[in-house]
Amino acid sequence: MGPGWVMALLGRSLANGSDGEQATMDRRGFLRNILAAGAGAGLSCVATLLGGCAKRDEPVATSTAAGVTSTPTPATGDHEARFYRRLADDAVQCELCWRRCVVRPGELGFCYNRKNVDGTYYSVVYGRAAALQIDPIEKEPAFHVLPGGTIFCTGTASCNNRCRFCQNWHLSQQTTWQVRHYDRTPDEIVAQAQEGTAEAYVQRPDGSLGPFACDAVSFTYNEPTVFYEFMYDIAARAKEKGMWALLHTNGGMNREPMLELLGLMDAVTVDLKAFTDEFYSKVSSARLGPVLSTLETIRGAGKHLEIVNLVIPTLNDDLDDIRRMCAWIVTNLGGDVPLHFTRFFPAYKLQRLSPTPVETLEAAAQVADAEGVQYVYIGNTPGHRRNSTFCPRCGEMLISRMHFAVIKVSLDQGKCPVCGQEIPGIWWD
Ligand code: SF4
Repeated sequence: MGPGWVMALLGRSLANGSDGEQATMDRRGFLRNILAAGAGAGLSCVATLLGGCAKRDEPVATSTAAGVTSTPTPATGDHEARFYRRLADDAVQCELCWRRCVVRPGELGFCYNRKNVDGTYYSVVYGRAAALQIDPIEKEPAFHVLPGGTIFCTGTASCNNRCRFCQNWHLSQQTTWQVRHYDRTPDEIVAQAQEGTAEAYVQRPDGSLGPFACDAVSFTYNEPTVFYEFMYDIAARAKEKGMWALLHTNGGMNREPMLELLGLMDAVTVDLKAFTDEFYSKVSSARLGPVLSTLETIRGAGKHLEIVNLVIPTLNDDLDDIRRMCAWIVTNLGGDVPLHFTRFFPAYKLQRLSPTPVETLEAAAQVADAEGVQYVYIGNTPGHRRNSTFCPRCGEMLISRMHFAVIKVSLDQGKCPVCGQEIPGIWWD
């Protein structure tokens, strides 16, 4: 048993006091802690899934595991896309994200996931999941949603951004015909989520694998916008079954599809990658403005919102920019929106940079404090005090965490047990 498991079990023991209450821990609570600890110990298995990915120029020709198939050429698509309009000469304009691609017959949009076939626009990834995995909800990150809960995550290939730092580039910067995938209907995915079976399991301390019944479905790993129709149908089925639904997005989706999707989502995590257009255009091939609009749309719809800012040395770690970002958040969204500063590690096309110094993250967090952001976290830094949630009024520790593992929850019906401050979020009680 590695140290992650020890910490989780020890933490649960602490959470339940030292009077033997640990024996009353139910199976679900036990599994939650095991799962979270597994993720904290690096046992969460994106790598397992990515083992099924082709190298960029290497076509995948054959199945290698049950249920895994390959698509050697772009699929013609069998599921009509939503949010597009027809133009002259059988061209279409996609209206799903800010790029608004104009796509001629036989061509794909910028994200490679939507294809014009004789004037009708299709999704080429509907039913083709490239990642199916169970994660702790803290990994979303969604620190104010069902602490210790489990999410069944679905991702596909490709993205509408081209981030040079992408940690999931094996999926997001590949096309659906370059990665192995699992053919699944929305009903099958929701059934898996309820049963808690995934292609990549989390290992228990005794060496056995899953299943874990999940509390929510989540759409993450690559940008869910580019598999909108698939995501929408999975979320709709999940809601029918009484599950929660979470979205992690780069914020590039247009307002109309986002509003419709929010009708199914309980909480949204948005990557606010920087606060300059220069960064967005040079590092992500994207734009800042649409992301800010999306944040306002989500907040305006009354959905729980959390923001992630990956701090990359030399590229977006200017404290004046971070100050402007925090001021914008407080003014336009409110000081009670949780903000996660996460640590960069070299990845994809930014191998030359060093990991973010913890001092940089701490300086950013102090700037956020000073600007009035009430819940400021430091992520990708296991064991940091700012992994945990504190009451903004009296300073009481409300949720103690070690990375993704929840050690102790002290909330009383969503309020601080000491001063009664209401804490925004979705809580168990
Ligand atoms: S979703 Fe894809 S095809 Fe549609 S506008 Fe965005 S990048 Fe273009």
